[in-house]
Amino acid sequence: MAVVLDPQVKRALAERVRFYNELGIYDFYRRNPAELNLSDTQPEQREEMTSRTSAAVEDSFELDKPELKVIDPVQALRLIREDLGDCTRCVLHKQGRKQIVFGVGNPKADLMFIGEAPGADEDMQGEPFVGRAGQLLNNMIKAMGLRREDVYIANIIKCRPPGNRTPEREECETCSPFLMRQIAAIKPKAIVALGAVAAKTLLAINAPMSEFRGRWFDFRGTKLAVTYHPAFLLRDPRQKKETWKDLQMVMKELGLAIPAKGVE
Ligand code: URA
Repeated sequence: MAVVLDPQVKRALAERVRFYNELGIYDFYRRNPAELNLSDTQPEQREEMTSRTSAAVEDSFELDKPELKVIDPVQALRLIREDLGDCTRCVLHKQGRKQIVFGVGNPKADLMFIGEAPGADEDMQGEPFVGRAGQLLNNMIKAMGLRREDVYIANIIKCRPPGNRTPEREECETCSPFLMRQIAAIKPKAIVALGAVAAKTLLAINAPMSEFRGRWFDFRGTKLAVTYHPAFLLRDPRQKKETWKDLQMVMKELGLAIPAKGVE
């Protein structure tokens, strides 16, 4: 039976669908929210997360992915990298990228950091977060009592956008399924999204950083926290104190001892 929507609800719904479309999400399925562990989320966010889990990200969990036949994350990541190949799936391959920046770190990491996109240094070296923002991320990891090689670091997209512009919807849509497969292979206990672009893309929630920070999200059964992007912290170092609070929340979840010293 056709349902007649209140015009206000209809407008809000259209706005929501447009937002998802901007993120590259076009297909929506109804799913029983009881299947999802959304206990510590607000109803509105629950609804958005339910939509998200059944949208673009779903694509990465297709059963025919080669790495799903292996259990070893090292081998799984190798298969994902092979599948990615010398990728020409989006326009970025012909817009000056030098190389694909796949991801780096411990394939069995408990903790994964996800940024936005490679910059010039990363493009040059083929590794995420190796420039100035990377140095600060290293300090954040060190402050947590971990080493860079203990964690896994990746980005929403794997090629440098020209002039470091924000990734386009189509680029995220094309590239992020590979990140989803990396997450599924690594199976971290926690994910930290660095900055609003990573948070919005992963969670499909259009909210300011103030609403993302200081709480846990459920990302397909994995805990996900959001903190400031290190590049933002370089511009506004006063926010390092806030970042340290976010990282302490993550450390607590991972059972790591909390040192007195924060991020420098
Ligand atoms: N900024 C990002 O988001 N990712 C990198 O790899 C480097 C800078």
